[in-house]
This record gives sequence, structure tokens and C-alpha cells, in this order.
Amino acid sequence: MANSKYEYVKSFESEDEVMYPNLIVVRIDGRNFARFSEVNEFKKPNDERALNLMNSCATSVLEKYPDIILAYGFSDEYSFIFKKETKFYQRRASKILSLIVSFFTSLYVAKWNEFFPHAEMRFTPSFKSRIICCPSMGVLQAYLAWRQRECHSKNQYNTCFWMLVKSGKSETEAYNILKGTQKQEKNEILFQQFGVNYKNLPSMYRQGSCILKTEVDETVKIHDKESPVRRSRKMVKTVHSENIASRSFWNDYSYLCK
Ligand code: ATP
Ligand code: ATP
Ligand code: MG
Ligand code: MG
Ligand code: MG
Repeated sequence: MANSKYEYVKSFESEDEVMYPNLIVVRIDGRNFARFSEVNEFKKPNDERALNLMNSCATSVLEKYPDIILAYGFSDEYSFIFKKETKFYQRRASKILSLIVSFFTSLYVAKWNEFFPHAEMRFTPSFKSRIICCPSMGVLQAYLAWRQRECHSKNQYNTCFWMLVKSGKSETEAYNILKGTQKQEKNEILFQQFGVNYKNLPSMYRQGSCILKTEVDETVKIHDKESPVRRSRKMVKTVHSENIASRSFWNDYSYLCK
């Protein structure tokens, strides 16, 4: 109620505007998905249906909110990057955060059957989220490089781990074999014991998924006009790219750093 004697309480709300020119990044991550993936019988190490579900939810988030220009995700996490000059919810962290994470969670539940048509969802999923304020494009790129490295190292570890388990080792034995091993040693285990060349595994598993907005030019015929007209249309697309923090990636999508 406006101007009530209780309204002074509003002044106790915490101020959390992310100041311009910081870039706003929201990262969401599934809560206890080790368990969620187990009870829903995800294929290990990578259940493609679950990854496609995450990608589909992230695509819907980008389509819904024009100020999000890019998203990057793997496993049970996604990072959403807002354009630098966004005024979305007056740049208030808690509003933005809660909106994105709750919308994503609703999408995850609503779309479940599309990706798992014969499996009823067990265990209600929830996601947690945080805001990262990147003071410059350089910091944003370092952030993305960090998440992508995390994707790579977790995927490499999990691939080895589940190969060992599927070959008859117990989970404890597999854990002990891999304890303290470096990247190169894990690649050797994969190659020598299982004939798997890590580089040949699907790029979505190794590199994660990047969703971005592009403009496509198209020629359309409008019914009451003689000649077709050219127009550009925003399209959301998913790419699996080796290094999303590299100069060449950002040169290809230079409009992202405007
Ligand atoms: P927390 O609540 O701390 O995030 P968590 O169990 O979700 O706990 P994460 O580090 O986020 O921990 O790990 C995600 C877990 O979900 C991993 O165990 C991973 O194997 C599993 N997972 C996520 N996506 C998939 C998938 N597509 N296929 C198989 N397993 C998956
Ligand atoms: P905002 O995004 O700013 O919160 P809003 O449309 O949700 O926009 P609110 O001030 O939160 O605005 O108002 C909630 C709206 O939802 C009102 O229009 C209210 O009539 C409607 N609403 C909520 N619950 C019910 C209900 N149980 N029955 C009928 N209408 C409802
Ligand atoms: Mg998690
Ligand atoms: Mg995670
Ligand atoms: Mg409301």
C-alpha cells in the first residue's frame, strides 16, 4: 500500500545494482545433480538428452530476453551474458538472478518430456545462481576460458572414470587410479586401455555449448508487394567451439563486444 506507515521497511532492502560499465553474467547450476542424474538414470559420463534439454532451456531464455547476447554451458550449468549497456530491471542483481533461475527451472520441468519421453522425472530439480560482474571484456573472456577449461577437465576425468567402471573396476578403484593423474596420463589411459582418442569424442562433450544471437539476411515475398524484400532477422544458434574466449571467436562475432 502506497504511503503507509509501514513503507519505511522498503529502505531496508539491500541495494544491489550492478554499476555500468560492468558486464552482468548470471551463472545457474543444478543443485545436487550428482543425485538427480543418478535417480533419473542419466547415461554416464554424458547423457546427450540431458545436455540437449539444458541447451533447449538456455535457447528459450535467450529468445525471451533480448538483452542476453550469449550463453555458455555444460553439464548442469549455464552462464548468461547481458549486453554491456543493459537496463534490464535497473541492473538489480537479485531481480535479474531470481528471474533467470526461476524461468530456467520452469523450462527444465516443462520441457523434460520432450527430451525424456518415456521417463517420468523423479526428484524435483532446483537450480542455484549467482551474478558475476565483469569489469571489462578481458575479464569476461577470462571467465569464459575458465568455465570452458572446467568443462574440459571434468569431461576428461568423467570419461576416464566411467570407462574404468564399465570395464569392471569398482568406483573406489577407478577413483584411486585417477587420483593425481595429469591430463596427458588420462589421455593415455583412454587410448592404451580403451582405444579411445579423446579428441574424437563429440565436441559438445569436450567443449560445451555456446548459444548466441546472429543476424541473418533473408529475402521474403510479402503478398501484396511485387518484388521480394530483403530483411535481417535475429536468430539464436548453438555452436560447439574449441575456444570461446579466443580472439578469433570474438572476431567472428565482433558485434557481441559493442
Ligand atoms: P552442487 O549442488 O554442489 O552443484 P552437484 O551434484 O550438482 O552439486 P556439480 O559439480 O554441479 O555437482 O556436478 C554436476 C553433476 O551432474 C555431476 O555429477 C555430473 O556427472 C552430473 N550430470 C550433469 N549433467 C549430466 C549429463 N548430461 N549426463 C550425465 N551426468 C550429468
Ligand atoms: P511484476 O512482474 O511487476 O510483478 P505482475 O503483473 O506480476 O508484474 P503484481 O503487482 O505482482 O504484478 O500483481 C500480480 C498480478 O497477478 C495481479 O494482476 C493479480 O491480480 C494477479 N493475480 C495473482 N494471483 C492471483 C489470483 N490468485 N487470482 C487472480 N489474479 C491473481
Ligand atoms: Mg550442480
Ligand atoms: Mg555443475
Ligand atoms: Mg508479480
